[in-house]
Amino acid sequence: MSSLFNHIFIPITILLIFSKRLNIHPKYIILLSFFGILPDADIFLLHRATLHNIFILIVPILIFIFMKDMREVSGIICFYLGSHLLLDIFDGGIFLLYPFYNGVFYSVIELIFENGITFNIGISNDIIDMRRIGEPMISSENVGVAVLLIIVILISIIIKREGMKKKET
Ligand SMILES: [Zn+2]
Repeated sequence: MSSLFNHIFIPITILLIFSKRLNIHPKYIILLSFFGILPDADIFLLHRATLHNIFILIVPILIFIFMKDMREVSGIICFYLGSHLLLDIFDGGIFLLYPFYNGVFYSVIELIFENGITFNIGISNDIIDMRRIGEPMISSENVGVAVLLIIVILISIIIKREGMKKKET
C-alpha cells in the first residue's frame, strides 16, 4: 500500500518544483496538500473504491472549467486527487469506475533483480498483492512517480506555449 507520506510528499515536491512554470502559488500547494491523502479516508467504507474512482474528479474539473477565479485552487485539487489515483493504480490497483463497474484497474511495471522485468496492465477482480519476493531495482510505484512527473512536464510545456501564444497576439 502506498504510504500516506508518499501521497503527500511526492505530489508536493513535484508541484513545488514546477510552481513557477505552472504559475501557481506555493501557499496553495501546501494548504491543499491534504487532498493528496483524502481518498484513503474510504478505508472506513469500501477501501480503494468509494473515494478511489474517477468520478471524485468531476466537481473540481467542473469548477476548473466554469469558475475562472477558482482555477488555481481547483487545478491543484485535481492534481492531488489524480496523483493519488495514479500512484495507487501502480501499487495494487483501484476500483476506477466504482460504483458502475466493479473491476480493479491495475498496472504492475517493475524490475526485480531476481525476477527481471514484470509488465502487467489490466483489470482484476481484486486488489493485486504487491508483496514481492526479491529486491526491486525499480518498483511499480517508482514507475507511477515517473509517469506523474512526465504528466506535469507536459502540462507545464503546454502552459508555457499557451502563454507565448497570448504574448504574440
Ligand atoms: Zn489510496
